Amino acid sequence: MTSRNEQLFESAKKHIPGGVNSPVRAFGSVGGTPRFFKKGAGAYVWDADDKQYIDYVGSWGPLILGHAHPAVIDAVVNTAKNGMSFGAPTEGEVELADLLCQMLPSLEQVRLVSSGTEATMSAIRLARGFTGRDKLVKFEGCYHGHADSLLVKAGSGLLTFGNPSSAGVPAAVAADTVVLPYNDVAALEALFAANGSEIAAIIVEPIAGNMNMVQPSAEFVAAMRNLTTQHGAVLIYDEVMTGFRVGLHCTQGLHGITPDLTCLGKVVGGGMPLAAFGGRADIMAHLAPLGPVYQAGTLSGNPVAVAAGLATLAEISKPGFFENLSAKTAKFVAGLNKIGADHGLCAQSVGGMFGVYFSETVPTSFADVMASDRAKFNAFFHAMLDLGVYLAPSAFEAGFVSAAHTDADIEATLAAATMALRTVA
Ligand code: PLP
Repeated sequence: MTSRNEQLFESAKKHIPGGVNSPVRAFGSVGGTPRFFKKGAGAYVWDADDKQYIDYVGSWGPLILGHAHPAVIDAVVNTAKNGMSFGAPTEGEVELADLLCQMLPSLEQVRLVSSGTEATMSAIRLARGFTGRDKLVKFEGCYHGHADSLLVKAGSGLLTFGNPSSAGVPAAVAADTVVLPYNDVAALEALFAANGSEIAAIIVEPIAGNMNMVQPSAEFVAAMRNLTTQHGAVLIYDEVMTGFRVGLHCTQGLHGITPDLTCLGKVVGGGMPLAAFGGRADIMAHLAPLGPVYQAGTLSGNPVAVAAGLATLAEISKPGFFENLSAKTAKFVAGLNKIGADHGLCAQSVGGMFGVYFSETVPTSFADVMASDRAKFNAFFHAMLDLGVYLAPSAFEAGFVSAAHTDADIEATLAAATMALRTVA
């Protein structure tokens, strides 16, 4: 008998290209039918066939408090009752901007937008307008949204479909994006030695989460900061995924680095369409209406989204929040490493973000991730799905634990993984 998920997927394909509104949702790399969700509560989601899953995707990162957290829902409902949008300034956005600048010392000024893509796209335009230069440096396997200049050997959904770049991106635009291997200090030094005066910016996922999870070396982190400073280029930390996910002060707090610009998204909007970019006041002063770099948005700083963001940031700022989340995620990863050791599985985490790989050692580059056993990952994914655990449907995505996951959820997930691994080997 056809399941409701299958029926919905068939219907969806009639009027939605590929049946989905964002490619990785189509289960393209793992195969099978995507699950259509109808409800979420805490750590759990329910699909159209009423099957319950422990969720480690969390809407791809935003839901650090779990699904339908009461404080967030109350904030959204109460705010919406006073109107959905004004297209004019509101008090909430001032509060959120002040809070973000307090939480991240690198932010002197910040502008709110509606998606991570808008944040990175605008930060890059601003960096180019500020420096008067065109060249952009990004790293293989990092994904920064779907703006033209960033769809150059990007990861995430594109990589999932085995298509390293996108049709429709003019060659001239892509030509201004230089793609280097992640963690390759020598390549970075060589590029700056040869072309330093032409480079507007480096944009980086300071902990990469779109080629599964890859951590930078201390040398790589230092080189990015030093070379951009020496050559007058802008260092952009794309913390859309890592922001308020790996720690209260984001990756930059963990690394002790002050980027020139930072992009935020996901957690900062608490599950609503909200993102931000900000940083040095002298750079931000180039933005319209103060300066010549144009950026705008009908729904930018939307009051309902701002309310969700404020409620979420209030929860994660409570004492012990990240200690608990990090300890829980580390315990999960330790359990996976223990039971996975004989099956070629390894895992790592930072804060509430984790990576699971079918490889001998934890990857440190895109090439390492490509060399991992993706067929095994796909089999593991489906075995876990059958057992009621929803992992990201791609070997190229990081996973997320929320504050709502209990020790019992983690234990149940590890028990499922033990069973799943038997079928995978
Ligand atoms: N930057 C990073 C690091 C991301 O992970 C993503 C999305 O996953 C984006 C930017 C784009 O954000 P959005 O999907 O909200 O446009």
